[in-house]
Parts: sequence; C-alpha cells; structure tokens
Amino acid sequence: MAIFFEVTAKDIAGRLGRLKAGEKTMRTPALLPVINPHLQLITPSEMKGMGVEGLITNAYIFYRSKEFGTQVVRDGVHKTLDFDGLIMTDSGSFQLSVYGEVEVTNRDTLSFQQSIGSDIIVPLDIPTPPDADRKRAGDELGITMERLREAKEILGPEGNLAGPVQGGLFPDLRTRAGKEVSDLGIAFCPIGAVVPLMESYRYKDLVRVVSAAKRGLSPAACVHLFGAGHPAMFALAVAMGCDIFDSAAYALYAKDGRYITTWGSLHLSELSELPCTCEVCRQHSARELQESPDKERLLAMHNLLVSLGEISRIRQAITDGTLWELVDDRCRAHPELLRGYRELLTHSPELEKSDRVSKRRFFYRGNESCSRTEVFRYHDMIARFAGGSRVMIDMTGGDDQEFDLILSFKPPFGPYPQELRETFPIGQSEIPDWDREMMVSGCLGIRRYMETHPESRVTVRCPAEWESLVSEQVPGAEVMVHGI
Ligand SMILES: [Zn+2]
Repeated sequence: MAIFFEVTAKDIAGRLGRLKAGEKTMRTPALLPVINPHLQLITPSEMKGMGVEGLITNAYIFYRSKEFGTQVVRDGVHKTLDFDGLIMTDSGSFQLSVYGEVEVTNRDTLSFQQSIGSDIIVPLDIPTPPDADRKRAGDELGITMERLREAKEILGPEGNLAGPVQGGLFPDLRTRAGKEVSDLGIAFCPIGAVVPLMESYRYKDLVRVVSAAKRGLSPAACVHLFGAGHPAMFALAVAMGCDIFDSAAYALYAKDGRYITTWGSLHLSELSELPCTCEVCRQHSARELQESPDKERLLAMHNLLVSLGEISRIRQAITDGTLWELVDDRCRAHPELLRGYRELLTHSPELEKSDRVSKRRFFYRGNESCSRTEVFRYHDMIARFAGGSRVMIDMTGGDDQEFDLILSFKPPFGPYPQELRETFPIGQSEIPDWDREMMVSGCLGIRRYMETHPESRVTVRCPAEWESLVSEQVPGAEVMVHGI
C-alpha cells in the first residue's frame, strides 16, 4: 500500500495523470464528491454511474456517528458507502477550522482512518485562516508538520498518507511547507485552508498561495486543492498544477436553491430557462424544477454533472494543449477570476518550465494572450536564431536582396526565420488584425533578437501605420516604411 502518481500529458502546469492509492486507481484531474453518510442526496453508487472514480468522506463524522460508527469499523468504509472506487477520508481538520476544536487526537484519527480501510488518510493538520498573522501561521505550520511526521511514523513508509501544505497567506511559509512535505516522501499533497479565499472570491491570493506551495513541492506530487468545488475556477487551478478537487458545493448549493454553471451560480427561482444539457435540465423545465418536491436532489444532480463535465472539458483541453484558452474563457466570468488569471500570467516564466513544447494551436484572445507561456518561451528561443551583418525584419512580406538575412514577423511573438513558419507557435497561431498590445510584445521579440545578436545591424520594414510604435519600441533599429 502506498500512493503513486504518474503524469501522462501536460499543458501549462496542468497535467493528465493517474493516481494509484493502494489497489485503487483514478484518472486526474478529478473531482471527489464529498459524501456525508447521514445526508446522501446522491448515493455513491449513483455517482459511480456518473463516472465518478473517487470520493471523499469525513472520518470524524463516522468516528462520532451513532448510526455508522460501529458498522464502518466492522465492514470498512467502501462497503458502508457501497462504493468500490477510491475513498479519501478527511480527519476532522475542517471541523477544527469551523468550530475551533475537535474531540479527537492526531493518533486517534489516523488509526481510525486506517481501520476503516481509507485509501487516502489525512492527519489532523491545522488549517490556518487567511487573516492569521505571520507568527500564528508559522506556529500552526510547525504543529501541522509535527503531526505529519508523527503520522508518517504511525502509518509507516508504505502508509497512504496525504501531506497537507499549510502556511496561511505567507508565500515563503507555503513554499517551505511544500518542500518539507515532499522531503518526507509524500506523493499526495492537499493545499489546505484555501476555502475562505474562494468564498470571498480572492482568486489573486489563491494563485499566489498555490504557486508558492507548488514551488516547494516535488513536481511528482499529486496536488489536491482542498475544498475547491466550484467548476468556474477548476481550469485556473489546473493550469497552476492542481490535480484534485473535492465538491461539497454540489449539495450545499442545492440546499440553497442555487444552480451551478461554469460561469457562476444562479438562483433557481430566477431562472426561466435551464441553460444546460444534463439529463435533469433536458427532462425538466425551469418551472417544473422549481416546483418539484425532489428539487434539492435534482439540483444536486445537475450541480454535480456540470462539475464533472467541466473536469472532462479540462482533460480534453490538456490533451489538445488548449488549456490557456479554457482558462481565458472561464476567467472572464467574474472580474475577481480575471484578477486571478492575470496574476497567473505573471508566473509565466516559472510555468513555462513545465509547459509542453508543441500544442494544437494558439488563438489570440486579447492582451492577456501576450503574457502566455508560449510567448515567453518564444522570446527566449530568439537568442538561438541565426544572425548576419545586415538583417531585415520584414513585417510586410516583401523581398530585398541587400540584406544577408530576412526574418518575417508575427505578433505577439516577433521575428521568425522561414524554417519556423510551419512549426508551433508561428504556424499554429491565429491572430486577428494587429493591435497595439500584440505589436508591443512582437517588438519585445525584436529587441531580444538585437540584444542577443549584437553583431547584426537590424532594419525593420513595417506598414506606415505601425512606424511610430516600432520606432518607439525598438529604438536601436533602423525603421523603413513599406512602399517608401
Ligand atoms: Zn443541468
């Protein structure tokens, strides 16, 4: 028994992978629906029919349950829940974050989770809230790490232990926590205490926290964004390198009459149409759903199906290498998501290291596209282009015998030699009419060429309308206007 994670495809820092915990295997990215044994709006076996390969339940609820406490120890958690896929159990840390205390010790919860046959066991870590100061975050991280080391001893080297990464809002603490967890040889790492950030739409802080944790974690670790269950942010989180989500949202939102979509949540009472293709929405009108005695369960089914559908869409985007475009789509649904997306783009130099070399396409979708990893990587590659004593960068598609070397130009990338015309990203990028942002980015590519080829005298031939921008952005080049 141990946890293994294998990556089979990549896009940005997102991965397609296979998580193996003991005898159970699950494809990632994945969503683990949260099951409360006392309130099963949708049963685990129904979830299996929806394609769910793993779920998460709370060991602390079982531990204290009069109804299930004895049964789960006798029959195991898989039989009790009637689910033969992967089952992760949480320790009671969530209750700790809500109620401030729990009646269980680290040792108790670990032995209990082990005795009920959990596939992924979580120690009793301390979820530090975002408003905690540095001292508190550091002290609590110290306790979490102590408990993790204790857990490692109790469960042994082959134990299916999750290693939570805490550290509050302090990037250096999160990085240190990530590194210490990976140094313990733990392959499954939940990033903890991020629910309050998501509840208050603080996606920029979320991106900072996750990026910091990822910096410390081994690239081979499977990363669980603990408590993330709204599909609007799955693509953003996967792009950062998160592999697992868990959703209580499908049920909690249903209880409140809220209808989840990939662009946010709507109140069912406000809907006159059901904008979704799931079986619930095709078999009911908005009014029928509003008036159904089974409303909560139907809504929970819709919410879960939408969330699972988004996971499939993300997996396909990783296969195709179009994850940036899905992130771009989703993050325009809310200005705070857009802030998170823009923050993520500032990490492109780091993300580029894990990104793949070739993709199906690059669609230009506005100025954010200029900061994508592919543009950053392209600008880096320019240093390796051939030089010449007189080099023409031609934006106009003309010809000139006077020059040793003529490079073509495509924004937002910059100059390119003919042999790269068919390769990614030049050959597979689609751009609309040139705009200022993409030209500034393309000119940065020209400057990079000039910096790395000091022996070359560079002339840029451009259409008249871009003359002043090119002169301003590439001060050392001779600028020639096409047709003059
Ligand atoms: Zn639906």
